[in-house]
Amino acid sequence: MKVLMGEVISLNRDDHWVHFPDGAICWDNEVIVDIGLRSEVVARYTDATIIDKSGCLILPGFIDCHLHFPQYEIMGSYGEELLGWLNKYTFPEEISFNQQDKAEKVARNLINNMLSNGTTCGVFFSSSSYKATQVLFKNLATLGLRGVVGKVAMDRFSPEELIVLPEDEYTQTKQLISEFHNKEGRLTYALTPRFAPTCTEALLEVTQKLRAEFPDLLLQTHYAENKAEIEWVQELFPQHKSYLEVYNHYDLLGDKTLLAHCIHVEDEDLKLLQKTKSKVVHCPTSNLFLGSGLFPYERFDEYSIDVGFGSDIGAGTKLSIWSNLLSAYEIQKMRGKSLSPKELFKLATLDSAKILGMQNKIGALEEGMQVDLQIIDPKKHKLLNDRFTRELSVEEKVFSLISLCDDRATDSVVVAGEFVCY
Ligand SMILES: [Zn+2]
Repeated sequence: MKVLMGEVISLNRDDHWVHFPDGAICWDNEVIVDIGLRSEVVARYTDATIIDKSGCLILPGFIDCHLHFPQYEIMGSYGEELLGWLNKYTFPEEISFNQQDKAEKVARNLINNMLSNGTTCGVFFSSSSYKATQVLFKNLATLGLRGVVGKVAMDRFSPEELIVLPEDEYTQTKQLISEFHNKEGRLTYALTPRFAPTCTEALLEVTQKLRAEFPDLLLQTHYAENKAEIEWVQELFPQHKSYLEVYNHYDLLGDKTLLAHCIHVEDEDLKLLQKTKSKVVHCPTSNLFLGSGLFPYERFDEYSIDVGFGSDIGAGTKLSIWSNLLSAYEIQKMRGKSLSPKELFKLATLDSAKILGMQNKIGALEEGMQVDLQIIDPKKHKLLNDRFTRELSVEEKVFSLISLCDDRATDSVVVAGEFVCY
């Protein structure tokens, strides 16, 4: 058993702040068994190993519900919108992931960088390479980040080196599922058609078939990010009423479906998202960087559609979820709305856990939950430290972190009860 002492801040699943300025968390193996005032918790577990992080904040680890493993090194590439971004930067870079040593190097660097930013769970698009996807799974297992991974399915409008034909996609995907899905405890597989334009009908049918065979898998794709993309889908699939209807036609919607972006969405499609209980992933820094549009946050609330949160690197510009949350706040400000500190914090913790079906496991520091947490030392970050010299409420503290915090302030990170190295 371990007892970790410090200032505990979390949101409960019943939407209340948990705040113990002089607090402690006790865990046994991977699971939290107690949380409360330091003096009381310490007195209850006299045999436990004590870890004293006085002066630090203890918060739930972040969940990044959408990012691209092979785009890590093209972050910050200049000047394009979505389709130009894919052709000019993304596809050439993803071809290089057919080389195993490149995939190895990037997997290690990306995972370490995520951990150092307090992210404890990631939902990844790999490249279309079977071997690169294996490399990512193996590095997640070694380095300790919790992960959902999918090999990207794509078989048209992309370079030949990235194309995997439907029958090969079927075989390789089944192989990856049998090798990695639920095998390492913290790792699962997600079906990952890139987006409708790069998938032939035959490939969408293969995805439909895999989904029927493996109904417990998550499925992730992109949807309604950019206006040129939406027009292209309408040209490619004139028989379907809308972009979303293409996915619906192949039974790809549902409560295990994660749709990244969802910026330009008509009422009819909001109804379809609601009816199918499909989930949305908001990726603010990417939306700003590519000039894709401003996420219509309240519309999803109106239709009771669950929204989670993602960095979407490489088009996203920050691995720090704090920085991504600040962009989410700023986007709504530009639309004349203010997300509260609680709504923002919840997006990258409980709301994201919920869209992955993991809300009883991760996203909050509560008894019975997995021990996925980040420890922040304001003293390591000059501006944050100066800001924290005054009396702040828990909401003011959280919003200061959203506005100012980054990886400089991370002291350490725990995943499934173990301190991870990065
Ligand atoms: Zn993406």
